[in-house]
Amino acid sequence: MKRILITGGAGFLGSHLCDRFIKEGYHVIAMDNLITGDLRNIEHLFKLENFEFYHHDVSKFIHVPGELDYILHFASPASPIDYLKIPIQTLKVGSLGIHNCLGLARVKNARVLIASTSEIYGDPQVHPQTEDYWGHVNTVGPRGVYDEAKRFQESMTMAYHTFHGVETRIVRIFNTYGPRMRLNDGRVIPAFMGQALRGEDLTIFGDGSQTRSFCYVDDLIEGIYRLLHSDYAQPVNIGNPIEISIADFAEEIIKLTNTDQKVIYKDLPVDDPKQRQPDITKAKEILGWEPKVGREEGLAITFEYFKGFSRDRLFDEAK
Ligand code: NAD
Ligand code: UDP
Repeated sequence: MKRILITGGAGFLGSHLCDRFIKEGYHVIAMDNLITGDLRNIEHLFKLENFEFYHHDVSKFIHVPGELDYILHFASPASPIDYLKIPIQTLKVGSLGIHNCLGLARVKNARVLIASTSEIYGDPQVHPQTEDYWGHVNTVGPRGVYDEAKRFQESMTMAYHTFHGVETRIVRIFNTYGPRMRLNDGRVIPAFMGQALRGEDLTIFGDGSQTRSFCYVDDLIEGIYRLLHSDYAQPVNIGNPIEISIADFAEEIIKLTNTDQKVIYKDLPVDDPKQRQPDITKAKEILGWEPKVGREEGLAITFEYFKGFSRDRLFDEAK
């Protein structure tokens, strides 16, 4: 049985990765310090013999007994309000955390895949973003702690690949959504859905002309699975290239949730990227991957998830 370590395993994406690798017959070790994660995301796996959970901060030395074939480094605060609250931990997990994972990989002779991000392109001046675009990041702006940690993480990973011969893969993830996102993580999909369910106005930041391209979580996980098993060590964008403005997106949510919420406008956060759309030519050519789940379908599944929350949870977790 292949053994895989998934850091950030109790988070949104990490928990979906745990499910996928369990389904594929792996022994899965999830490691998480629960700073933004939630054990409820993985509690259904606790009874399985081929699942283990380690409560550990990956910015500190990592010890995992036994063999390891793969390490997926997904531990990191991921939403702007999280990394603004815990900027130093964000920088540490992107730097010390990946160093620990790569060191462990060397000892275990394991292959490492890291979660990079579209944020490494910053507020992009090339559109759509191809992997050879170097980005436009404000190092000392509020988002810099996340963007630069992820950029460092890519460099460190490539250095271990080049100098130590560690097998590495880099996925640049674009905005992904689905069940198990946190209601209060500040990202636009849980924000709008929570507001609709609580009967509150939808908050558009800025004038809503900024764009994003939203990928359903199952599509992303399939892309990551294929990349891990490919022989390609350069970065690969995984995301859904269908782009929408946030103002149009708010209208879509109002229709989907069948509510008559109003929209209100708030200040645009500093350094909020104006547009974002992945060029997925590489993923198509190298992995034979493209997204399959349309926004209508993916949003409906996600809304069902949030609709299942009790009234108390809906209000408590919004705080
Ligand atoms: P999340 O906050 O739900 O999950 C992150 C997990 O990492 C949490 O469970 C958290 O407790 C854990 N964690 C953070 N610091 C840790 C540390 N020092 N030690 C151990 N565990 C730690 O976020 P997510 O959306 O699932 O993101 C997962 C990864 O994917 C992150 O690396 C993020 O940067 C990347 N990513 C996500 C998206 C997206 O759209 N969701 C886009 C680009 C990149
Ligand atoms: N956004 C918004 N209202 C909200 C939350 C977010 O208008 O209640 C905007 C945000 O300013 C950004 C876009 O929606 O322009 C996507 O934000 P998210 O945090 O989901 O992703 P990111 O900015 O990291 O791509």
